[in-house]
Amino acid sequence: MATFEDLLEEWDGEQAVIHRDREGGGWIFICMHSTQLGPAAGGTRLKVYDTPADGLRDAMRLSAGMTAKLAVADLGLGGGKAVLAMPKIPEGDERSALLHRYGDIVESLGGGFITSSDVGTGESDMDVIAERTEHVFGRSQAKGGAGDPGPFTAVGVFHGIKASLAQVYGSDDLSGRTVLVQGVGSVGSALAELLGRDGAVVLVADVDAKRAETVAAAIGGDAVEADQAIATDCDIYAPCALGATLSAESIPQLRCSIVAGSANNQLAQPEAAELLRAAGILYAPDYVINAGGAIAINFLELNGRSQADVDAALVKIGETLTEIYARADTSGITTAAAADALAASRLS
Ligand code: NAD
Repeated sequence: MATFEDLLEEWDGEQAVIHRDREGGGWIFICMHSTQLGPAAGGTRLKVYDTPADGLRDAMRLSAGMTAKLAVADLGLGGGKAVLAMPKIPEGDERSALLHRYGDIVESLGGGFITSSDVGTGESDMDVIAERTEHVFGRSQAKGGAGDPGPFTAVGVFHGIKASLAQVYGSDDLSGRTVLVQGVGSVGSALAELLGRDGAVVLVADVDAKRAETVAAAIGGDAVEADQAIATDCDIYAPCALGATLSAESIPQLRCSIVAGSANNQLAQPEAAELLRAAGILYAPDYVINAGGAIAINFLELNGRSQADVDAALVKIGETLTEIYARADTSGITTAAAADALAASRLS
């Protein structure tokens, strides 16, 4: 089993803060992977892990992903991630006390790390952290924040889908195109609505069948069984639930021309990108197409930019994907490799 020392030896990031949270019985990890383009920015994940090393490994891996994502989004931010690895998920006063202790650590970094919500945390948690540090965004609208990033992410995915349609079919017209949205939570439900409004035939799937039915009814779409989602006939498969849905096992089942959705870490293995290419399926790299929430919150909360600036930046997600598709075509590489190359060129 890897030790903290092993993980630190292998990691290519700049700085890791490892804090034993004695009061909560857990660990706080803050990984600043890169500050080359600006302060290391990334969400705060609150989760129970099998071992503390698993929590540190997650923070390291996710912080590297943020470096690439924010480099491509061109926000003048580096990449980071925090993990609060606790023996159980605290609630009430215990949760607030943990977030205050964590906020003090973020504050002690003097703005080198700035954070927002991630799996296990939300806008109300960011409000609590903001009681101890100004280096937090994704706060509630009531506390002067931009609120839920999901709808902004959905708009970015929508523009990404249009760019992908243009690449594959020579037209970005959604009318008559079938889109399967897998997972209709914060991002997926807003995306389904945008697609329906633009004339797409929308199919939705969710492990919460009732939620799928409700969203389908609201937008005039249809619900499909959650376990049928991958194999459903459609033009575009939009994974908006969990990651790792694209694997050597699942790719042969796909009945679509495009994969374009918000889920993080969609490729179960790096080789999955090559399998998609070989199958003639266009893959919109996840960290490019799902950057809308990060962009909007950064613009609105950190930079005081207008909604019009946000709208333009979300449109640019589609343009960036078009650039990535052209790079992939010219160089004969996967779209995932082309996105990584774009991130690397921004960082060099
Ligand atoms: P959410 O929790 O609001 O919604 C996820 C939905 O997926 C839920 O309705 C859940 O029931 C459903 N679901 C879970 N497992 C499923 C499965 N196997 N099949 C079908 N449905 C399933 O999450 P969200 O904020 O909408 O985010 C969706 C995805 O997009 C996540 O992977 C998230 O990491 C990623 N993402 C979100 C944002 C954002 O702004 N919220 C930004 C970037 C990336």
